[in-house]
Amino acid sequence: MNPIGVLALQGAFREHIHMLERLGVPAQEVRKPGHLEGLAGLIIPGGESTTMGIVAERWGLVTPLRRWVREGRPTWGTCAGMILLAQQVAGQKEGGQPVIGGLDIAVNRNYFGRQVDSFEADLSVPELGAPPVRAVFIRAPAVTAVGPGVEVLATLPGQEGRPVIVAVRQGAILATAFHPELTDDLRWHRLFLQMVQEARPQVPAE
Ligand code: GLN
Repeated sequence: MNPIGVLALQGAFREHIHMLERLGVPAQEVRKPGHLEGLAGLIIPGGESTTMGIVAERWGLVTPLRRWVREGRPTWGTCAGMILLAQQVAGQKEGGQPVIGGLDIAVNRNYFGRQVDSFEADLSVPELGAPPVRAVFIRAPAVTAVGPGVEVLATLPGQEGRPVIVAVRQGAILATAFHPELTDDLRWHRLFLQMVQEARPQVPAE
């Protein structure tokens, strides 16, 4: 299998690489556009979406990353990575423009942040089977709206019984508001690898 890239500008990229290594999958740190060549998939980690966007801009990665997503190549954003992939972002300093975009969701960047910085919860995820997965939320975003092609994979109970969406999939894009790479559970990484195997990008990988 070709390597899976992990955007390594800032944030929890080493933890994702460690999870991929545990699954026996070659991993490649992505810091410049050339590092995207030949990758089977890309993980955009958690961290600080504003910082990651600024660094990506400085390293000339924004246009290559947008192209990568537009071509239907497998991409998984966790936490800040979800924010960077969202088509609409509320609570963003630079006026709500998507940094990468391509995922037809609206997110609130610090949805849980005002009440509680970090927490853990057990999520029932039909796609992953039993038992529920432990999810670590750190200044986490939440999805506030989804487009027609977006499948909701996990929710948390919200106020007035309204579920809060915290994991979605659209074609070859996976996004989670929490951090599976900070747990011992490999099921989210396995799900992404399955998406990588099933993906048919519009442009063949070089
Ligand atoms: N809310 C943070 C942001 O705006 C994301 C936090 C995280 O990735 N743990 O980037």
